[in-house]
Amino acid sequence: MAGIETDYLIIGSGAVGMAFADTMLDEDPDAHITIVDQHAKPGGHWNDSYPFVALHQPASYYGLNSLPLGNDQIDCTGPNKGYYELATGTEICAYYEKVMNTRFLPSGRVTYLPMTIYLGNSRISSILSGKESAVNVRRKVVDGTFYNTSVPATHTRKFTVAAGTRIAIPNDLPGLWKRPDEIPAHYAILGAGKTAMDAVVWLLRSGVAPQDITWVRPRETWMFNRANTQFGPEFFEQAIRSQISLMQAAATAQTADDIFLTLEKTDYMLRIDPDVLPTKFHFPVTSHGELDLMRSVTRVIRKGRLTGIEPARMLFPSGDETVPEDTLFVDCTATAVSVRPTRPQFEDGLITLQMMHVPLVALNASVAAFLEANFDTDEEKNTLGEVSPFVDSTLQYPLALLTTTMNRVRWSMSKPISDWLSTKRLDPTGPLIASLPAGDPRFALLGEVQEATRAAIPNLHRLAAMAAAPAQG
Ligand SMILES: Cc1cc2nc3c(=O)[nH]c(=O)nc-3n(C[C@H](O)[C@H](O)[C@H](O)COP(=O)(O)OP(=O)(O)OC[C@H]3O[C@@H](n4cnc5c(N)ncnc54)[C@H](O)[C@@H]3O)c2cc1C
Repeated sequence: MAGIETDYLIIGSGAVGMAFADTMLDEDPDAHITIVDQHAKPGGHWNDSYPFVALHQPASYYGLNSLPLGNDQIDCTGPNKGYYELATGTEICAYYEKVMNTRFLPSGRVTYLPMTIYLGNSRISSILSGKESAVNVRRKVVDGTFYNTSVPATHTRKFTVAAGTRIAIPNDLPGLWKRPDEIPAHYAILGAGKTAMDAVVWLLRSGVAPQDITWVRPRETWMFNRANTQFGPEFFEQAIRSQISLMQAAATAQTADDIFLTLEKTDYMLRIDPDVLPTKFHFPVTSHGELDLMRSVTRVIRKGRLTGIEPARMLFPSGDETVPEDTLFVDCTATAVSVRPTRPQFEDGLITLQMMHVPLVALNASVAAFLEANFDTDEEKNTLGEVSPFVDSTLQYPLALLTTTMNRVRWSMSKPISDWLSTKRLDPTGPLIASLPAGDPRFALLGEVQEATRAAIPNLHRLAAMAAAPAQG
């Protein structure tokens, strides 16, 4: 690994690092890129995911601009029936590997160093040999690890597990067929995020009865209705109308919660239990089919985060809960995305890839590469791509929505950016709008979006300030 010289040293070959590299290859034909990752293959956390994982958004706008992911087919069976296909984890990993082997490496402009750790200060270390070396970075280090994705297979548990307690991660569940003696009578799903939802849906679809599942949900979450995340031509009107209803809710809300409650009335936002107000929002996407399955589990424990498990017992600060003797605990408590303080995206010698348009991680990294390649100063790039916080609680949503909205306004007013986005598959709306023939009556709907957006911006400022107020006091 001695003597590596490169223009951009990208840390991480996950969705973010790969999307940055993919766009940079097109936008700056002179740039040389080096990608380091501790994983053996590109794809980041998808390499460690459970066998039944899939995207929760349509595959049609995930991945990279240079290659479609999936076939843009509409599912005709299962709980995603009627909507664009969701790529599986295996498909996603194969996709990134294919792009690495058929585009990145043959370009002669990418050096890929798997099984390699970035140590900081442009130094890297081979995991297997332990050899350390310095990389001469001519332009910038690109940090593609900001979201610090944490999945069950790699995370560190924050609760104790007493000896003799049966615990698994979702990755273990499909292998139960090989161990019939170990099939439990009851499952306790620990966690309320997308991984837990996937595990519950998978167990139910695999034949487990709802009464044989206990679900520990420390916080309830709002979810997007997948019906509104479809951006193919046949969904145009629904997609644009949902954008209008989002902006109308943002314009009239008295509190952040109001945005979600108003959108629930139009079937835009969903929650599992209509009697409990969610406080969490990590942008999960679900369908009514999945929601019906999740609602069938009625043994729900809402006592915050557990501190430990023992055979047939769960420990919470507010008191213990029992479960049947032969319970398999399924650890779905990994946080998926860690919320960290944001920083400017473009700094001297460093690009820290973050959100500009929540929650489209791949689009964001691709736009960041476009800004880097096509604009001169870091100040200009940071102005065009203001960083949004990654949302954890519902309170943070107004600021994220405001930042996204303002960035989209800036991008629409910049001809180079809007021309570029209109041809890029990672932007769900750009190519869709560009495909409308001149004089199409659906342009009127776009006018309604603009009007609703103008009305929403002042209230979003107010709601964002309200959310920030206690921290300032
Ligand atoms: C179950 C699940 C489903 C999801 N579904 C969706 C979805 O439908 N749509 C969506 O937009 N998002 C989804 N997400 C969010 C997901 O986090 C992002 O889509 C995306 O995969 C994150 O990519 P990343 O590159 O930021 O992180 P990662 O995939 O974690 O990639 C970062 C890489 O950096 C490497 N790395 C970190 N530190 C170092 C170091 N010091 N040296 C070397 N390498 C390092 C890691 O090994 C890793 O390979 C989902 C997440 C989960 C967990």
